[in-house]
Amino acid sequence: MAHHHDDLAQAVKYLKLTLPEMSKREIPTTPENYAVWYEYTAGNNLELKQKIDSLIKKNTPFSDKLNSDLYSQYIENAQQIAVDGIRDSVRKIINELLVQVADEESGLGCYARSLQSFSEKVSDTEDTSAINLLVTELLAETKKREEATQNLQATLDTMAQEMTQLREEIERLNNEASTDALTRVKNRRAFNIELEKAISTSKINSMQLTLLVLDIDHFKQFNDQFGHITGDKVLRFVATMLQKNVKGNDTVARFGGEEFAVILPETSYENALSVAENVRTRIAAQTLTDSAANVKLGAVHVSVGVADYRYGESPEEFIHRADQCLYKAKNSGRNRVVGEQELTEETASQEQRI
Ligand code: GH3
Ligand code: MG
Ligand code: MG
Repeated sequence: MAHHHDDLAQAVKYLKLTLPEMSKREIPTTPENYAVWYEYTAGNNLELKQKIDSLIKKNTPFSDKLNSDLYSQYIENAQQIAVDGIRDSVRKIINELLVQVADEESGLGCYARSLQSFSEKVSDTEDTSAINLLVTELLAETKKREEATQNLQATLDTMAQEMTQLREEIERLNNEASTDALTRVKNRRAFNIELEKAISTSKINSMQLTLLVLDIDHFKQFNDQFGHITGDKVLRFVATMLQKNVKGNDTVARFGGEEFAVILPETSYENALSVAENVRTRIAAQTLTDSAANVKLGAVHVSVGVADYRYGESPEEFIHRADQCLYKAKNSGRNRVVGEQELTEETASQEQRI
């Protein structure tokens, strides 16, 4: 969460410190673990730092369970705490506002009563000096009212400003909670939400909905050969290529590890196949060099599965079919796109064989 504020150089510095800390303890470099150890190195999250320091002191092994607990306790919860804090501030502002408005109302009530009694006294008196006194009183009353109204106005202005700031903060937190820290595309959680939305929209407008699932070929070799930092750059490159080559209405997400997904609303199966093929060839056409390390990485190949939404099926069934296609693309030589109609054909021919 703190990545955002730090400047880039600082972030890179922490990242470089983070990786050796992780590898020393044989902690898998998943995005969640990165987040935990990045926060640890950056040292902003004091509770997390103390917790990890004490675990290190006690020589506790960092098991998968422990890693995932650290993440949910100190990173996910941190988001929740921030959101709770904002909710409290909003509540406080609203309460203050209610008090002010109530004051204003009782003030206005008094004023109305003064006016009423003024009008009665004026009707009752012939004496101009008494009227003059009444007018002076009324003027003082009106001044008081005017000041109170100005105070309320000022309070309302301040509160409107605070509300705007809070709204921005909420937006920033929401963005952060749905963004993959490494590649800055949507994370798995945001993907799930977007897919649900896309499915219900497709049901309502009866438009086609298609899904790409993409996996980098032999990605492990990149890591093994050039190191994790370079591997991370490859992940960012693929994410950027995806984002560049789909429309604004489409959702690009990091599905996990070196796997991505793209939701294509209002897109036919044929068009989804050509989007996939276009992305695949554009990625393969680039020859990457790591300018920092000054090494040629060669081409990045990806395999893609394409599924077409079937009315009424669950998101899991939809994803599963795209996954089956991806699996087939891997098995039939990688660096290719496989659509679900190729699956159906295969199933059909198998049925004929029986
Ligand atoms: P295949 O063509 O069958 O997909 O082979 P592969 O090597 O791409 O697949 P495999 O699942 O064997 O390896 C995936 C690798 O991705 C292993 C893991 O270390 C790496 N990886 C996962 N997440 C990250 C990450 O965030 N950063 C880096 N650098 N590597 C990651
Ligand atoms: Mg792979
Ligand atoms: Mg994979």
